[in-house]
Amino acid sequence: MRNVDSRNAVVVRSLVFHVSGFPPELGWLMSEFRLIVNKPIRIAVSQDIRSRYRLTSAAYRQMSAEHSIYKQYIPSAFEVAMGALKAYRRRLRKGKRSSIPFMMKRMLKAENQSYRLDRETGRLRIPVRRGEMAVVLHLTLSDWHRSILSDLSWSLGSLTVVPGKVIIAVRKDAPECYEPESALAFDTNEDSLDGVFAKGEEAGLTSVSFCGVRQIQATHFRRRRRLARKKANDRRVQRMLLVREGKRERNRVRQRLHIVSKRIVTEARGQHAAIVLEDLTLHGSGGRSRRMNRRLSSWPRSEIHRQIEYKAALEGVPVIKINPRYTSKTCPACGARRRDRVGGVFDCACGWSMDRQHNAALNILNTALASNEDLARAVRFQPGALRDDMMIPLYDLQALPEGAREESSGDELRCPDGG
Ligand SMILES: [Zn+2]
Repeated sequence: MRNVDSRNAVVVRSLVFHVSGFPPELGWLMSEFRLIVNKPIRIAVSQDIRSRYRLTSAAYRQMSAEHSIYKQYIPSAFEVAMGALKAYRRRLRKGKRSSIPFMMKRMLKAENQSYRLDRETGRLRIPVRRGEMAVVLHLTLSDWHRSILSDLSWSLGSLTVVPGKVIIAVRKDAPECYEPESALAFDTNEDSLDGVFAKGEEAGLTSVSFCGVRQIQATHFRRRRRLARKKANDRRVQRMLLVREGKRERNRVRQRLHIVSKRIVTEARGQHAAIVLEDLTLHGSGGRSRRMNRRLSSWPRSEIHRQIEYKAALEGVPVIKINPRYTSKTCPACGARRRDRVGGVFDCACGWSMDRQHNAALNILNTALASNEDLARAVRFQPGALRDDMMIPLYDLQALPEGAREESSGDELRCPDGG
């Protein structure tokens, strides 16, 4: 019997291409598309339309008469409009003040039957008007773009064009996930994943550093503050520099996290392990909010999850997401829940003691075992068998039953430029 986690998934990735100097026809097309998004939004609000089907019958004829663009773009524009309306209605339902959505940015969204991409050369053909010549762009393909485009198991999805940028979605059916024989559960922190590997009745602690991501963030934070001060008299320049700085930081951080996520997925696969993570979109994660309420952004945490999830899906590695509620407040040995603030070490009246991060990871594993029968068959985890001064490097998981090695730092990943 298979559970929800091993169901086949579709992996979607976005290929981003920077393009300088759009031909004017493309600019015109994007302006028209914006109108065909904004006008139907007004129609839908005034007539209380909630489905794309009804919007099409109410607005298609008018849009088609007023705009001479290639016809297949009209349903795509309606889809963008419905998406904006859905978000708007959700805000209203939550009692938030919200004005009727209006798309400011010029854009174009097209389904894969509307455009043509030569997967070898990057020649992109975008029709503009009915029965007229199309616009042709020559996308610069990086090695990474080529590796995906030359692999025909990736099929082309929708095309999005915004000023200066072309985004092409590609999709692939993920292989079926294996039945887990072990579990790799992680507590996600600012600068590391701290976890437990469990197989049968054996278990060991492990940690994976983000290779100095926090340091990168701190450096960029200081640099941004200095820039802001220096350019305080010119808001426009200040904004531009800050945006550029932010992009640089994200790229550097993302690069490091790719090394980490790849490593974790490879090790999990080698062990036929399920990866267990917190569902960061859920609230009520105990003392977490205070913990994360720092000046550095918590974006790397969600980014590392995103990377692990799609890489795992491509490799058939099951990922289980659990509600992080109380995972930092509970004693994994006796189940007692603490009400006070937990410091660096979680101590319990029953005698249990473990550093906060690994303690949370044990609770994350326990939560997954309680809700996942497949996993519970493979892993019979006893917290009492663990010692918190014993760490096994991630690449050494297979050595677990023979005795875990002592590792003081837990910092076993080799990082680029020694970060
Ligand atoms: Zn206890």
